[in-house]
Amino acid sequence: MGLTVGVDIGGTKIAAGVVDEDGTIIETQTEPTPATDPDALADAVAAVVQRLRQRHEVEGVGIGAAGFVHADRSTVLFAPNIDWVDEPLGAYVHKRVQLPVVVENDANAAAWGEFRFGAGKDVDDLLLITVGTGIGGGLVSAGQLFRGSYGVAFEVGHLRVVPAGLLCGCGRYGCWEQYASGTALVREARDRMGSELPEAAPLAEHVHGDSSAISGPMVTELARAGDPLCRDLLEDVGRWLGEGIASLVAVLDTSVVAIGGGVAAAGDLLLEPTTSAFIRTLPAATHRTNADLRLATLGNKAGLIGAADLARSPGDGR
Ligand SMILES: [Zn+2]
Repeated sequence: MGLTVGVDIGGTKIAAGVVDEDGTIIETQTEPTPATDPDALADAVAAVVQRLRQRHEVEGVGIGAAGFVHADRSTVLFAPNIDWVDEPLGAYVHKRVQLPVVVENDANAAAWGEFRFGAGKDVDDLLLITVGTGIGGGLVSAGQLFRGSYGVAFEVGHLRVVPAGLLCGCGRYGCWEQYASGTALVREARDRMGSELPEAAPLAEHVHGDSSAISGPMVTELARAGDPLCRDLLEDVGRWLGEGIASLVAVLDTSVVAIGGGVAAAGDLLLEPTTSAFIRTLPAATHRTNADLRLATLGNKAGLIGAADLARSPGDGR
């Protein structure tokens, strides 16, 4: 199969791109997401695919969607940010474009993209952890995308890491993404600023005393410029991240763990504390070959590229 279209449906934006067999994006288009109207959403996806088809010979469509995707690779069972319940998205889009369509969970699609063309292209096993507003993840093991029995495997953000810990958006307490995510980074930055300790002064000055103006990229930027408080905040997130990854690797024994998502833009400021916490926490770390922790390389295009590739392969081998 030659060119395919990868579609990444986010809460506000649909990004679609024509991708070749080497994972290279040839052209992209975007559309706003009609998040409350599933029919309009399928129309919008079809429209963007049709626009791309006018200029490229496209043979299939892969869609990455944030939500539970049925093992049939067509139906979205549930999505946190879009009004989908048992939504036959793949069938709807297929009816409109008359091309083969596969739907995959967005984090799975991103893991597949990184495995095929990014941080995992030299190995057979890849665990992708995406650190953004929450934590997402996907696993490729022995060259196969791991979907679980019902298609909804690997919701790692909701591993409980602190009994009776912070309340999570999922309604439970102590989930990993409450401690190792962009949301956690910003929450802690606001808390520390509120403490009025001397080390919080540069951050307070930066936002003119308005803690609601603090964002994840801002903390990263200040950390890069050498601000000790912001470095410390990234170290804390890295520590939580590394400890969680150690538990996952103890179970999965993956060769590479790629860290992606918005917070990974901090680069080594995140990767170094993550790696030290990982090695410190991994059981019997000195008696095993440890996973290599790396930054993901495809950025926010991993899902689109992975979805496009899944349109031409079932997620089984290279
Ligand atoms: Zn949760």
